[in-house]
Amino acid sequence: MLSCYECGKKLRFWDGYYHPTLGKKVIVCLKCFDQIEESMENYQNFIIREFKNERQRKIIDIKDIKLKFLNWWNHQKSTH
Ligand SMILES: [Zn+2]
Repeated sequence: MLSCYECGKKLRFWDGYYHPTLGKKVIVCLKCFDQIEESMENYQNFIIREFKNERQRKIIDIKDIKLKFLNWWNHQKSTH
């Protein structure tokens, strides 16, 4: 059985939503999906900022940026 990546709630397969930032392997419930969508603006700002940083180093690795975002996102959740 699937469970929500964010809150761990058990999901029937039709309850699952693809995580908009982490991709198709990650499923979340509707409640968490809404919260993530709210954070999309933050996400975009985060990505733009990271791209600028990465460009200065002349290395752009989108996986690395996503991983950084995931760490940032987990930190956001834990401080709310
Ligand atoms: Zn959830």
